[in-house]
Amino acid sequence: WFNQAQFIPPDAIFALTAQYQADPFPQKVNLGQGTYRDEEGKPWVLPSVNKARECLRTKGLQHEYLPILGLQSFREETAKIVLGAELFKEQASKIATCQSLSGTGALHLAGLLLRACHTKLPKFYIPEPTWSNHHQVFQSLGFPCESFKYYDHEMKSLDIESYYSMLRQAEPNSVVILHACAHNPTGCDPSKEQWREIAQLMKARQLFPLFDSAYLGFNSGNFDEDAFAIRLFLGEMQMEAGVCVSFAKNMGLYGERVGCILMSTVDRQVAVNMQSMLEMLQRSEVSNPPAFGAKIASQVLGNDELKQMWFQDMMTMSGRIRAMRAALYEKLIFFGAPGSWEHLIQQSGMFGFLGLSHEVVLKLREQHHVYVADNSRISIAGLNAGNVEYVARSITQCLRD
Ligand code: PMP
Repeated sequence: WFNQAQFIPPDAIFALTAQYQADPFPQKVNLGQGTYRDEEGKPWVLPSVNKARECLRTKGLQHEYLPILGLQSFREETAKIVLGAELFKEQASKIATCQSLSGTGALHLAGLLLRACHTKLPKFYIPEPTWSNHHQVFQSLGFPCESFKYYDHEMKSLDIESYYSMLRQAEPNSVVILHACAHNPTGCDPSKEQWREIAQLMKARQLFPLFDSAYLGFNSGNFDEDAFAIRLFLGEMQMEAGVCVSFAKNMGLYGERVGCILMSTVDRQVAVNMQSMLEMLQRSEVSNPPAFGAKIASQVLGNDELKQMWFQDMMTMSGRIRAMRAALYEKLIFFGAPGSWEHLIQQSGMFGFLGLSHEVVLKLREQHHVYVADNSRISIAGLNAGNVEYVARSITQCLRD
């Protein structure tokens, strides 16, 4: 049965974490995987999440199945916070929602729905570079995927002209993957004005926006600010769109797989139909989604006191990341690391896109035990006061050698 099975190399980022874990060097630093770490380099359970867990325990947890579409209160609270209260009131009846296996599951469900609704599969336009799983998720569903140039490696910034030019030439009725904020891996997002232009071009050319929203509130520390592009497309521009939401990073619920898909349309009946299709698709995929994480998230989102705590937690995380970004920049300048490093402080979000050659990345790993993704993306959250100097000195040495 399986003689045709091919060997598939392990996922690069997960393999890097395994390599880091096996390294006995005491000063090793893991800047690979994008998971938040506190000042001691430890995983951080958000105080708001801790408190929500306590509340659930006091209420008495049971372990029944959730409905196929997921926890109703979680789906509703997610739509509310992503759209903002006003837009939610206006549009709730035109939005189909379904709880998903975190952000990845939401993207996959979105793909399933788009596939089920079209006999001719739409093309997917995906920024280059992008999150390492995008192509895999959509190609596995049979969609033709095309990359477009998002980043100018020379200038170390967003290449907005090439973005616009792709949108002007894209096949109508295609899907465009949009990172709602904190573009992974480059940390470069369009400005508000550029988002407006992107939305107008997409509307004019009948392109479907599929938002990958894995960092809402985690980017700037302000959820509303980070949801700007989503609200622009759905509200002001009145566009149909898909929003794939993850609570992995902003609630630190990585392993609980808490996510949600919001599909906005222009007609109530279409929304009802889409909702029923999501239910059918979910049933054949996972039957019903996991309950525990969704209950925690729902508790946080649905309780004013916990929600305020969570807003504070997101500011704590994004503030520490910003401080570490600045510290790395300052140390690189202090050590006289060859090249310019302005791009590092112009980027935002969890990642820093250093712009190092593959050779330097390997040297960092092999000679200095500093683990960085192959494309020289670093997870800034892996830095702290105890290792930032070591990392900056290691980068400087590798560039000088
Ligand atoms: N999209 C992007 C851009 C991401 O960076 C991530 C997490 N690394 C995800 C989606 C999915 O994450 P998860 O499935 O853990 O929510």
